[in-house]
Amino acid sequence: MFDAILIEKDESGQTAGLTRLDEARLPEGDVTVRVACSTLNYKDALAITGKGPVVRSFPMVPGIDFAGVVESSDHDGYRPGDRVVLNGWGVGETHWGGLAEKARVKGDWLVPLQAPFTMAQAMSIGTAGYTAMLCVMALERHGVAPGSGPVLVTGAAGGVGSVATAVLAKLGYEVAAVTGRPEQADYLKGLGAAEILDRAEFTEPGRPLARERWAGAVDVAGGQVLANVCASIRYRGTVAACGLAGGMSFPATVAPFILRGVTLAGIDSVMCPREDRLEAWRRLARDLDPAILEGITEPVALGDVVETSERLLAGQVRGRVTVPLGEA
Ligand code: NAP
Repeated sequence: MFDAILIEKDESGQTAGLTRLDEARLPEGDVTVRVACSTLNYKDALAITGKGPVVRSFPMVPGIDFAGVVESSDHDGYRPGDRVVLNGWGVGETHWGGLAEKARVKGDWLVPLQAPFTMAQAMSIGTAGYTAMLCVMALERHGVAPGSGPVLVTGAAGGVGSVATAVLAKLGYEVAAVTGRPEQADYLKGLGAAEILDRAEFTEPGRPLARERWAGAVDVAGGQVLANVCASIRYRGTVAACGLAGGMSFPATVAPFILRGVTLAGIDSVMCPREDRLEAWRRLARDLDPAILEGITEPVALGDVVETSERLLAGQVRGRVTVPLGEA
């Protein structure tokens, strides 16, 4: 038997709560993992509260991330005792996920724990941090370098934003952090932000082309914020867009793309090919100072995950939420 969060749905609606499950109920897979630590991402909070159509089949154990120790394996790449990390691949959406003491998945979805991170640190990073690194890699691929000019990060006090801010600052970029929480200015400066901007500057409809300010941007907001960010990108700059915290819409014009050669680079972490994942984790090991992880992480007990999901969606959580489940 093992503890897990289980989401169930019937005619009266969706419920989510802590329960005890029999191992015989674990889904198909060639690797069984004793989960040491999981996380709570924006998508997990949508799944648990039912506020977004994340879960595709019920009952579902949520949790798009986990780090743990292989208990048994029929996969050539993994043996009992190996420390592994999982991010995405539909886990917590279509396949039972990481908010449980045990998980059974396809070995092809796993990556080895990246040194020097502990399992707890890998989950402080989690999908949010690995996505932040995919965004940084996209900016680099499109020629945005530390000397190119200031780089904007939206939703900076959230999970993706905190890691993006820290990594970009460590790489030598001048980071302008956008937040709806001005009281987090000291936190963001501690992560390396050079300038703090009020989210309100980006939420109203603006001109198709605004003053050219940013060489690049990492956007977690979408919606009007993303439209305004694109309008203020410098000639041939790039926006790495990964989120919808401000909405699914994109009320923009083509002007920045056809008149300034701006690139809108879409970032998906879920189905991202293995090579890019391994590269992102290698880069995190090199370009993220592990010493910052404790300060950006709030550990919560498995039993507090449902309540924390509400807080996260209300924008009241800073940085990352981890869910310790064993020795990590
Ligand atoms: P998070 O920790 O909840 O952070 C989201 C941040 O967005 C909040 O902390 C807040 O930052 C800002 N925000 C909240 N409401 C907003 C609004 N109405 N308009 C503009 N900004 C708003 O979530 P996360 O885990 O970092 O994820 C951020 C987004 O990226 C989510 O939409 C998530 O689904 C997406 N994501 C996508 C991928 C992918 O593969 N594409 C992977 C990971 C995450 P401030 O308080 O600083 O303003």
